[in-house]
Amino acid sequence: MNNSDLRGIIFSFFRTKAFKQCQDCKRVIMWNKKKVILKYVEWHNFISCNDCYKYNFFKTFNERLMLANLFI
Ligand SMILES: [Zn+2]
Repeated sequence: MNNSDLRGIIFSFFRTKAFKQCQDCKRVIMWNKKKVILKYVEWHNFISCNDCYKYNFFKTFNERLMLANLFI
């Protein structure tokens, strides 16, 4: 076991809880304040990675569009 292996193990303990995580796909957005892994959207207590945000945005948008069509 060399030094970098050992460092990996030590850091893995710090990584048990992500600093920020997407609420939908549970992917880690940030491991710490300085390291952003995924682009994300955040406001109030909502946090989502860009992929989920876009997906949910278009999903609700399409649903609204379908509902609107029903009432036209
Ligand atoms: Zn996500």
